[in-house]
Amino acid sequence: QAPVITVDGPSGAGKGTLCMRLAEKLGWHLLDSGAIYRVLALAAIHHDVDTESEEALVPLAANLDVQFLAEGDLVKVILEGEDVSGTLRTEQVGNQASKVAALPRVREALLRRQRAFVGEPGLIADGRDMGTVVFPKAAAKIFLDASAEERARRRQHQLQGKGVNVTFEQLLSEIQERDDRDRNRAVAPLRPASDALELDSTSLSIDEVIEQALAFIES
Ligand code: C5P
Repeated sequence: QAPVITVDGPSGAGKGTLCMRLAEKLGWHLLDSGAIYRVLALAAIHHDVDTESEEALVPLAANLDVQFLAEGDLVKVILEGEDVSGTLRTEQVGNQASKVAALPRVREALLRRQRAFVGEPGLIADGRDMGTVVFPKAAAKIFLDASAEERARRRQHQLQGKGVNVTFEQLLSEIQERDDRDRNRAVAPLRPASDALELDSTSLSIDEVIEQALAFIES
């Protein structure tokens, strides 16, 4: 089977950029598992399904009609024929995603879909439980963290670049709420795999993070 490199950590730690750069450099496939949880949350909203009802969400998760289309550097996400790439990234959808992600049978229903991304020459898997649950035998595991304040600052900067104004305090509290839920849930809580390289990106540039990750992968 083709090799897998997992990158886990909280939102805003820089996983997305690291994974994209690794996938580019190695020429490997990329799995953004958070996007799958986000798509499920969006599908639940579209179909008026209660995001707290495990019973209603499991069939939706099992039959999710989603496509990930690579377009240059970007990945277009198509849900039931509709391009949802924009809406998917909002904090509201992220927050709903972390609610559906706390339900054990929902996670179970999405396992096979995530593992189907494995293919030659290899896969970079971005998420919360890639190294602990989905790909426990991965060739290399990285856990990328950063302080909540730094992650809120980065997110604010990113949003300002898009012309969206949100206060730092608001972002920090949203990030902390989602972190708490992801870290304290009963199933697949966010934590580093015992064999993961733990990197703290709080005072590192993205290039330094990539350099350290590559040195670890190549070691
Ligand atoms: O990474 P992203 O912010 O897109 O993930 C959205 C939410 O999906 C996370 O807050 C988390 O609750 C959930 N998630 C998860 N397991 C993953 C990826 C994401 O539980 N592997």
